[in-house]
Amino acid sequence: MTHSISGQRRAENGPYSGLRGGPVVVVGAGPYGLSVAAHLRAAGVPVRVFGEVMGSWRHAMATGMFLKSTPAATDLSAPVPGGRLADFCRETGEPELTELTPIPCETFVRYGMWFTQRYVGTVESARITAMEQDGAGFCVRLEGDEEIETAAVVVATGLATLAHLPDILLSLAPGGPGLKAALSHTSQHTDLSRYAGRRVAVVGGGQSALESAALLHEAGADVEVLVRASQVRWGERPQLRRPWTRRLAQPASPLGTGWILAAVCRAPGTVRPLPAAARMQLFRRALGPSGGWWLRERVEGVVPVRTARRVEQARLAGDEVQLRLGGRGNGLAELVVDHVLAATGYRLDVDALPFLTPPVRQAVARVPGVQAPRLSGAFESSVPGLYFTGSLAAPTFGPMLRFVAGTEFAARRITERLVRQDLRR
Ligand SMILES: Cc1cc2nc3c(=O)[nH]c(=O)nc-3n(C[C@H](O)[C@H](O)[C@H](O)COP(=O)(O)OP(=O)(O)OC[C@H]3O[C@@H](n4cnc5c(N)ncnc54)[C@H](O)[C@@H]3O)c2cc1C
Repeated sequence: MTHSISGQRRAENGPYSGLRGGPVVVVGAGPYGLSVAAHLRAAGVPVRVFGEVMGSWRHAMATGMFLKSTPAATDLSAPVPGGRLADFCRETGEPELTELTPIPCETFVRYGMWFTQRYVGTVESARITAMEQDGAGFCVRLEGDEEIETAAVVVATGLATLAHLPDILLSLAPGGPGLKAALSHTSQHTDLSRYAGRRVAVVGGGQSALESAALLHEAGADVEVLVRASQVRWGERPQLRRPWTRRLAQPASPLGTGWILAAVCRAPGTVRPLPAAARMQLFRRALGPSGGWWLRERVEGVVPVRTARRVEQARLAGDEVQLRLGGRGNGLAELVVDHVLAATGYRLDVDALPFLTPPVRQAVARVPGVQAPRLSGAFESSVPGLYFTGSLAAPTFGPMLRFVAGTEFAARRITERLVRQDLRR
């Protein structure tokens, strides 16, 4: 496979072609890509946006899932007032959402589409297949081999290609994990009812694991959840009216209550100058795996959850999977199931972005300890003109960037920087 994309036909990019290297290319049309594009367009910066609008929320979340975040923490960032989730509900006659209403994924997808019509305009569904440095800018190739020259690319591709599967499970899927294999990752499912009547082990202890387990159980599967930690953590039901003493001791933030979360959400820009070790501590510890408060009654006492259990060996035996379990937890030492569903999260690794050609990947400096890009205060990587936002920016700016709540900070910072570069019409 060749990675060179130079020397092919270059697409005509309108009046900007060749002037400043074409429009800014935003790769991704999820909450981050849409928010950045909305701000750039409002600032008069020419931009082309690629991806499927709210694609991850349509294809990487199982039917029946809800958002873990509360409505107030789930606004995309519009350049002018009027684009919040609550505005969408009011204008379109959707039921009002309170802090005690879990948001169905379908509602969030409809909100994203409404936001796109209002603030973004055209989004091109073509995927970006390759990107390489070309002089002072980039040459970006689309499906169908169109090429675009640009001075700036904003990568907002979310977690799509970053699914993490522990090595110990991989032998269960010699042809790769998926719906037809004995092993899959939660991001590969939209309909868990396919496992009705089958035995499924869910590996993981966070929201994805626990919500998938609830959906599997409700669909008639025989589920066991295997959690490494000694207990499952659950979020607290939001209190609509908290006494001032509680508010002082445990200030609220879009990600939950507590001084650390409040500080990193109020001023994510202050996270970046912290020493690398402190940032990593924040990244890893500020929000460990936990289940949403509203999910608890669908899991606790309903679905068997084995805590302090880790998979030590996994092997295929005919159509079955045999798991040998270790750890301090009581219970089975061996578990036999039909399928293993890995809810084992994502790895923030620039090398797992398939559209970055190897020389570009190599040129992107990383945050020590992880393979995420090291970013400037404006989300620019060590490759001038190449920006990363969303989860890949979390090791630089803290946990808020893993959530929709970080879109405002990211969209404003990136737009300010590109406007200063004077890419405006
Ligand atoms: C199971 C689960 C539940 C979550 N729940 C919440 C929650 O409740 N609240 C919250 O705030 N966050 C939640 N998150 C985190 C969530 O992923 C982010 O908050 C949000 O979706 C990130 O938006 P994004 O724009 O970075 O990426 P995504 O929403 O993942 O969007 C990625 C975009 O990139 C596009 N794309 C990918 N590759 C290409 C390519 N090669 N070319 C063109 N386009 C491409 C896709 O089509 C899509 O448009 C959850 C994550 C998971 C996995």
